[in-house]
Amino acid sequence: MFQDIPESVDIEYDPAPAEQGDRMLCYDGRSVLVRIEDNKAVLPKLCELDSDCKKVFVFRADGIRYFLCLEKASAKGFGFEPLNTVRYVAADTDQYAVVTGYHYYCFHAESRFCSVCGERLEHDPYKRCMVCTGCENEVYPKIAPAVILGIIDEETDSILLTRYAGREYKKYALVAGFIEMGESAEAAAEREAMEETGLKIKDIEFFADQPWGFAQNLLIGFFAKVTGSREIKMDTSELAEAVWVKREDVPAQPGGISLTSEMMWAFKSSQR
Ligand SMILES: [Zn+2]
Repeated sequence: MFQDIPESVDIEYDPAPAEQGDRMLCYDGRSVLVRIEDNKAVLPKLCELDSDCKKVFVFRADGIRYFLCLEKASAKGFGFEPLNTVRYVAADTDQYAVVTGYHYYCFHAESRFCSVCGERLEHDPYKRCMVCTGCENEVYPKIAPAVILGIIDEETDSILLTRYAGREYKKYALVAGFIEMGESAEAAAEREAMEETGLKIKDIEFFADQPWGFAQNLLIGFFAKVTGSREIKMDTSELAEAVWVKREDVPAQPGGISLTSEMMWAFKSSQR
């Protein structure tokens, strides 16, 4: 998965100003300033930007610091590439930075004014939050937890695959949904299975989790076994397709960046 990088990542907020060799994350909507080189995303250093910009610290990996640029930026030899292009290059630290930095970029884009008193928000100098210039209300990045669910039918050695309705992502996925207030992740898994497919599940088992900055989520992956009827009653407002797929027919390869692809590969390669 994209967060499985060899460098040790230190996410603790570092208030020290950026230096010329630090990497810069510059976004324009769902595009990021990169150079694609040997199927890898390469980020510009601060010294490579055409002009200085207002910036905030994102994280550090093995001594290299990554900053989010808060203004429109440009750099010679770099161009704005869609996040979906960067998604399919080889996983490494700069790709991880693009995904994580995008989460922070969205937070800044959505956190301009205080929702309590309406005054302007400013970045706190010492921690990763915005502070209201009027009432000192603190606003932290939103992280929405969601479950991803591999539902297995042991009798037919199949897994339930879905396609989302009305989304950019058209490949096969797994049943997924947000955790609601007052709900455990396991309860959300049971509810989503029932809501999206009409299936009852048992033996819910944690597999792995993943920070997913593309949509400001924390994804929590579970495998579970179907119990009772195998008949799928699909929620057509959420899904365009929901089908049982035999283990050998699952369209998955090793080394995917997403938890969904990792889970599909885990089933296909009989790790589950
Ligand atoms: Zn306020």
